[in-house]
Amino acid sequence: MVDAYGSASHETVRLETVRKIYTRGENSVAALAGVTVGFHQGTFTAVMGPSGSGKSTLLHCAAGLDRPTSGQVFLEGTDLSSLSEKKLTLMRRDRIGFIFQAFNLMPALTVRQNVVLPLQLAGRKPKKAFVDEVIGRVGLGDRQGHRPSELSGGQQQRVAIARALVTQPSVVFADEPTGALDTRTARDVLTLLRESVHVSGQTIVMVTHDPVAASFADRVVFLADGQIASELHRPTAAAVAEQMTHLSDAVAPVAVAAGSV
Ligand code: ADP
Repeated sequence: MVDAYGSASHETVRLETVRKIYTRGENSVAALAGVTVGFHQGTFTAVMGPSGSGKSTLLHCAAGLDRPTSGQVFLEGTDLSSLSEKKLTLMRRDRIGFIFQAFNLMPALTVRQNVVLPLQLAGRKPKKAFVDEVIGRVGLGDRQGHRPSELSGGQQQRVAIARALVTQPSVVFADEPTGALDTRTARDVLTLLRESVHVSGQTIVMVTHDPVAASFADRVVFLADGQIASELHRPTAAAVAEQMTHLSDAVAPVAVAAGSV
């Protein structure tokens, strides 16, 4: 298909009728109640919704960290449910980047060592020029020897972004990446994420509860009760906030009668 920027693209990640049921004793909750959604290559999507609407579950299923109860998740056309645990782990390591709210850097390692760590864990030899380029892209060229404790929160998140990008993954999943940052720093980090999409063609899926953060994305997918409630393209923060006020009236997640799964 032709994306919003006029170039041909394909779906890097696709969820097809994904259901995820959690069972607690007698009760079951459909955290995802049949979600079908695609994320095109070179696009930046924000996933929003009230607390408990299934955002984390969607991210975990899409990233192969959790297996759906039913339905399928495709990464670059490969059905993740067809993979063994071992193959799934390799797929995550080689094809998926992660960025978390809490940065999750190794405190004893320098900026450069943190960035090249995923390559080393994968047994891939870091190419100096490319590592330099990625660290330069996130604006930390002069901080390579620093340890995380010597950096600001925004700089630490930039290290985490470089670490996610260095393996040249098919997709980066970001879970509230600006949740621990002040407004200005958050804007810088979001601008960097957006650049990596529009300049380098990275695919990013970001869970956030912040309408301003979501407005940096090309598209916002809204979840309510484990289902896709609506979508916005080229969102403004005001339009996202307005949409969220409708969703926050949503009722609790759908209870599933025991035995119906
Ligand atoms: P969100 O990220 O939008 O806050 P979640 O995906 O975390 O939503 O949760 C969706 C629903 O699934 C909630 O009702 C939550 O309580 C339930 N849930 C999530 N994870 C588990 C789990 N491990 N065990 C039982 N219920 C869970």
